[in-house]
Amino acid sequence: MSYNIAVDGPAGAGKSTIAKEVAKRKKLIYVDTGAMYRAMALFMVREGVDLRNTDEVIQKCRKADITIRYEDNVQVVLLNGENVNAYLRTEEVGNAASAVSVIPEVRSKLVELQQQLAADSDCIMDGRDIGTCVLPKADLKIYLTASSEVRAKRRYDELAARGERCDLKKIQEDIEERDYRDTHREASPLKQAEDAVLVDSSEMTAEEVIEKIISLCGREG
Ligand code: C5P
Repeated sequence: MSYNIAVDGPAGAGKSTIAKEVAKRKKLIYVDTGAMYRAMALFMVREGVDLRNTDEVIQKCRKADITIRYEDNVQVVLLNGENVNAYLRTEEVGNAASAVSVIPEVRSKLVELQQQLAADSDCIMDGRDIGTCVLPKADLKIYLTASSEVRAKRRYDELAARGERCDLKKIQEDIEERDYRDTHREASPLKQAEDAVLVDSSEMTAEEVIEKIISLCGREG
């Protein structure tokens, strides 16, 4: 049986930074499920699909073959065989991912891939519905959150560090809109699993959050 940690929470809570580091220290594979939704969104954007047209998204999603490979412990997302990692982290693709992820057909295709990865390897997987839906029997579930102001500022600093022009107020608005969509959608909405441990990182450093999760692991790394 593989050992699985589920990390859920809203956009910008620091899930990927934290999960990557916990993976390294506990010798787990890090599975970034947001990247899979982003790859699907990238496919739709490239194909010029109108994201409000659910039927068209469902039709097209059958043509998107998304797989994962690990290179030096880094997750590489392949979209129809192409490594698309470099195109996934833009705001445009993030917003499109939030729009396509409301569609159950898109979700079931990606959830199947996620469950397979978790069955095959000890992993820490982050997303929105991992503890509630994808891995209901995960060994440890974390719900990681922070205030929308703190999350917007973190995203702003991340984009600014990459030299991208951005507007803090607009980022906070986008984050709040995405939160609303993620928590109110019908298919697997973002919510804390009953048996998840709540960690609010608004006033915590990344190192404090990492140590907290490791202390909850109860597993030799
Ligand atoms: O976490 P990240 O920002 O990369 O995710 C992009 C979008 O994909 C999220 O806003 C969310 O709508 C969707 N997503 C999801 N379920 C997951 C992971 C991401 O619906 N497990």
